[in-house]
Amino acid sequence: MSKPKHITIVGAGLVGSLLAVYLNRRGYKVSVFEKRADMRKSNVSAGRSINLALAQRGIHALEQAGLMNDVLPLLIPMKGRMLHEIGSQPEFFPYGQREHEVIYSVSRGGLNNMMMTAAESNSDTEFFFEHELVDVDLKNDHLKFVDLGVGKERSVSFDFLIGADGGGSQVRSELMEACGGKCSAEMLDHDYKELEIPADKDGGFLIDKNSLHIWPRGGFMLIALPNLDGSFTVTLFMPTRGETSFEQISKNNVASFFEEVFPSAAKLMPELETDFCLNPTGDLGTIRCYPWVHDNAMILGDAAHAIVPFHGQGMNCGFEDCAKLDRLLNEFDDDWTRAADEFQKTRKPNADAIADMALENYVIMRDSVSDDLFQKKKVLGFELERRFPRRFIPRYSMVMFHDIPYHDAIQRGLIQDEIMSGLLKGKDDPLDVDYEAAETLIVEKLSELTFAF
Ligand SMILES: Cc1cc2nc3c(=O)[nH]c(=O)nc-3n(C[C@H](O)[C@H](O)[C@H](O)COP(=O)(O)OP(=O)(O)OC[C@H]3O[C@@H](n4cnc5c(N)ncnc54)[C@H](O)[C@@H]3O)c2cc1C
Repeated sequence: MSKPKHITIVGAGLVGSLLAVYLNRRGYKVSVFEKRADMRKSNVSAGRSINLALAQRGIHALEQAGLMNDVLPLLIPMKGRMLHEIGSQPEFFPYGQREHEVIYSVSRGGLNNMMMTAAESNSDTEFFFEHELVDVDLKNDHLKFVDLGVGKERSVSFDFLIGADGGGSQVRSELMEACGGKCSAEMLDHDYKELEIPADKDGGFLIDKNSLHIWPRGGFMLIALPNLDGSFTVTLFMPTRGETSFEQISKNNVASFFEEVFPSAAKLMPELETDFCLNPTGDLGTIRCYPWVHDNAMILGDAAHAIVPFHGQGMNCGFEDCAKLDRLLNEFDDDWTRAADEFQKTRKPNADAIADMALENYVIMRDSVSDDLFQKKKVLGFELERRFPRRFIPRYSMVMFHDIPYHDAIQRGLIQDEIMSGLLKGKDDPLDVDYEAAETLIVEKLSELTFAF
């Protein structure tokens, strides 16, 4: 198995498509099986969110795959959060303090289609759409698909199998069973629904184009990301059940609910009632499992580590998986046994760390962004980063603007938070702190970072 010639990928979502590009650049014959129809030919949606936030880790992986020139026209920079509190003017909070410290809104379908086309431009890569995986025989290296176009089963054998089939991965189920692995699915008791703020009549943006808009309301929130056509995709995150929940909102009261709790957004959403009724409500969860590799099969992307979307990192992390696997294949001279094993060992702690940070960020986004101590720590964090750039980087920036392993980001973030809490004790002005004491603590507690800026 060490050096297979033919790689079979299940799932032509974001991660499977990027992986196909990486693997055909390495000279492999690649077959990708996808249950959906080809989004480039038929009007099927890419599923889940319409647009996503792309950040440094994802950009780096796209650059390494040679795709960045094709991605650039799809991007809208978002420089910070625009907070919409009831009864006050929207307030802007930058994500970072350097010009390049922005994240980008990108269309899921546009990005997915571009990557599939790039992969297919290599004659050794073939996509099989409308092929739903229904059975995995890891002992005999056989897969069974239903060809949904003709309604017939089809058997396929594989050299090396990669499951990039998302959070509900069938490859993962079989792999866990085959090797007695452990898997947990922790569902959030909050769901989401996508809505829309359309463009104005001239195709312009009705709210600031270069922000990620948030209407934080404590137990729930609304967010909006810009699209190239002047519209915004709006997402409502809210408890599934309870007093203010999806259970309580229907066509009859959605307009009055929005007018009461999101008045500034409600007036920009003429199709609110229709969108609310027609658009599906999605659930959210975290998958933790191990191992990710068994003989000549492995999983990556959401199939290995689906996370909640509140740090905007699921796709970015999956893209980073592709770049890391490629680097390990370089390092081990395409010995897949060693590369895949090293991949799972080094990625798993990082996947767990971003899963934890993503869950934490839900509370931050819907609640703490408007909290006084949170804002003071933001201001102080930027100042400490400016003064001690090799040792202190705000955690959000470590995750979004750097390639620092997620596990290191979470560990350093805890220490940094403790340092800032101490410095801010009894202070009204977050910049009026003892910087000598700060330096002593930072040097003592945080090692110097060795990455390139
Ligand atoms: C509301 C929301 C917002 C998000 N926002 C962001 C964001 O801003 N930034 C970010 O980085 N991430 C975000 N994410 C996470 C991101 O969507 C996922 O991490 C990403 O899509 C994972 O890609 P994937 O290819 O691993 O899985 P998927 O995108 O789920 O792709 C899996 C593919 O496998 C196919 N498939 C599944 N089962 C089978 C089968 N049996 N046979 C054949 N094919 C199959 C599916 O049809 C699909 O095409 C968000 C997620 C949600 C839900």
